[in-house]
Amino acid sequence: MTDPARYLRTVTVPLAELRHFPGNAKRGDVPTILDSLRRNGQYRSLIARQTENGHADDPPLTVLAGNHTMMALELHGPGDCGAPVKTAKGERPCGVCGNNAAWELTGRVEIVECDDDTARRINLVDNRSAEKGSYDRDALAELLSYMDDDLSGTGYIPADVELLLAPPPSLEELADTYGDPEADDFWPVIKLRLSPEERDTFHGLTVDAPGKEDTDRFRYLMALARGDA
Ligand SMILES: [Zn+2]
Repeated sequence: MTDPARYLRTVTVPLAELRHFPGNAKRGDVPTILDSLRRNGQYRSLIARQTENGHADDPPLTVLAGNHTMMALELHGPGDCGAPVKTAKGERPCGVCGNNAAWELTGRVEIVECDDDTARRINLVDNRSAEKGSYDRDALAELLSYMDDDLSGTGYIPADVELLLAPPPSLEELADTYGDPEADDFWPVIKLRLSPEERDTFHGLTVDAPGKEDTDRFRYLMALARGDA
């Protein structure tokens, strides 16, 4: 029997006071998150659990959700990153450091209190629920259409948008157009680039092949080489 997490407070703390959830199984896209932080700022708090009686050199706050946001902040590092954010309307300060040399490596954290079991459940479901979702492609395309070709901080690149507007055909559509795949569709393909003379020699040596396709000629040539033809 475990209790739900209890919200305590929201604070901004040095990252040194936080520790990553031990054994977090998710491997997130840290550069994309940093791109978002620089463009949009830290719009969502990390969620950390306050543990009592931690060891003296053990940070008392363990991040249950937002471990990759914390990594992105660590990747940014303290001080001025030296890079303003480029937008369609010009440059503006970095959303993390404000291009301020005195910026300290901090993050905004919602602190909760819970037991070990609930802490693991929160860490698992926070990763899992995000990946179990899906998209309304029309709604997504409409949202992206407002970005005016400035995709920074959205997690999308132009190729994603092109794919969304003109998606590749589904397997069903391909089957409708080209018929179901034949068994030999999956056979290996050998590509050769020959001089015209070599091509003529190939045709000359295989003039007695039972078929006129290159594949027929090649099989005939292999039979000749084996002494079977
Ligand atoms: Zn910065």
